[in-house]
Amino acid sequence: MDSERLAAELTEARRLLEARARAADLAERRLADARSDARSLAQQNEKLNHTLREVRDSLVGLRAELDNLARPPHSFATIFGLPGPGLADVSLSGRLLRVAVAPDVAEDGLTIGRTALLNEAMMLVGLVEDAPQHEVATLREVLADGRLLAAGSSDEELVLLAAPGLGELRPGMSLTVDRRAGVALAGIPRTDVGDLLLDEVPDVAYTDIGGLSAQIEQIRDAVELPFRHPELFQRYGLRAPKGVLLYGPPGCGKTMIAKAVANSLGAGGGSHFLNIKGPELLNKYVGETERQIRVIFDRARQFARDGRPVIVFFDEMDSLFRTRGSGVSSDVESTVVPQLLSEIDGVESLTNVMVIGATNREDLIDPAILRPGRLDVKIKLDRPDEVGATQILARYLTVDTPLRLDDASEAAAFREQLIDAAVQTLYAVTEENQFIEVTYLSGDKEVLHVRDFVSGAMLANIVARAKQAAIKQVLAGGADGVSVEHVIGACAAEVAENEELPNTTNPDDWARVSGRKGERIVFLRTLRGARQLAPAP
Ligand code: ADP
Repeated sequence: MDSERLAAELTEARRLLEARARAADLAERRLADARSDARSLAQQNEKLNHTLREVRDSLVGLRAELDNLARPPHSFATIFGLPGPGLADVSLSGRLLRVAVAPDVAEDGLTIGRTALLNEAMMLVGLVEDAPQHEVATLREVLADGRLLAAGSSDEELVLLAAPGLGELRPGMSLTVDRRAGVALAGIPRTDVGDLLLDEVPDVAYTDIGGLSAQIEQIRDAVELPFRHPELFQRYGLRAPKGVLLYGPPGCGKTMIAKAVANSLGAGGGSHFLNIKGPELLNKYVGETERQIRVIFDRARQFARDGRPVIVFFDEMDSLFRTRGSGVSSDVESTVVPQLLSEIDGVESLTNVMVIGATNREDLIDPAILRPGRLDVKIKLDRPDEVGATQILARYLTVDTPLRLDDASEAAAFREQLIDAAVQTLYAVTEENQFIEVTYLSGDKEVLHVRDFVSGAMLANIVARAKQAAIKQVLAGGADGVSVEHVIGACAAEVAENEELPNTTNPDDWARVSGRKGERIVFLRTLRGARQLAPAP
């Protein structure tokens, strides 16, 4: 019995144990499941978080974009006073305002003359490093209280506060100024007018110029007669012209003629030739070109007072009138031209000053400058024809030039032969001399030959090349003197070099170089070397 009960108890105990083990096992499995659930939940959570962050970031980005799009523009203003903490006095396009300074703008950045940004609510919200361009004035003197006395573009006096960092202040220096704010902002490095203004006593004589005798006579009548015989002009009540415009293709003697005029006027007593290159006169600062024009004429007046004749020569004069696409502001039109006109008008009272302008683009010259009393004599210089070319070549292949004479020929005749050879080579209308085919807007085509592009400069170069070839030959132990071969070789070399030209200019410019006007050229085809050129955009 005991043993039976014991056995029963044992079985029961075993059952119980088994049941507990099962329960423990189950519990453990549940725990493991729960753990894994927790892990995957955490992972999911992390993922969600990540997505959320991404969404938020892109929202912030969008918001910023939207803000930028919707942001009202900021205005540039010049600080001219700092009345107290958190406040600034600024000039905004001429309006004077006292504005609040946003707290995040660094106090120490606030200085007089500094360019600030104003938001829509006219609060100063930022500072700008590169200030927009301002007007230019000339410093006259530094006043006792530290303010500056300066002259504006039309010589009016300005009293200005000096921005810190203006550097050394020298009377005569140029300053950028905000006139309304009354602040001198910065000193500007400037081109010294002296650099633009080449004063020379030219050594070109009329006899150095080949051909162009009609033009020379015209300019002498216009300039020299009244200069030499003022009493006759007065007696006849004839006003002397004030200026001359020389126009025509480049390298055809405009500068030479102007220099020869100066030289001839100064025969005996000397003369001044102020050689001004138009493009170099243009300055990006408002008012600076006008100032330079003023200085040039001041200088001319000063020289004229000594009683010596002064020629003010504006080379590439068209550049002063050309505004479109030149990157130069339209101030040129509105202020530079009037300044030049008023200076030319002012020349009237001067007896010894004459203005000569030169241009390849007379079509770009403002008609106002050609009115009577200004540059009222217009003289056209064409490309040389055969006769002109012969005369120009003769100026360079002189009687002194060593020639390769054969026994039979005489020096003078041989020289003529050389000149003839060059003229024949350049002016022949042969297939070999075809240079370029132009297509006009109307569809008409025209073949231009080398002869259509010959200039005085080119002829001078040809002779120089021929002489150089002769010298090289002498050095190499060959025979002395310039030969026909040298001349013909020089022509070929010079033409080949000019062949490069069409690649670097657009058809409009090319038309100008060729001196042909009227119809627009839409297409160019080089015939020597057969290079194709696109039409101008
Ligand atoms: P531009 O018409 O462009 O002012 P230039 O007068 O400066 O031309 O001429 C450039 C050079 O070409 C001169 O220095 C000179 O050597 C030569 N030249 C041009 N035309 C003539 C000419 N008619 N007679 C002699 N040389 C000339």
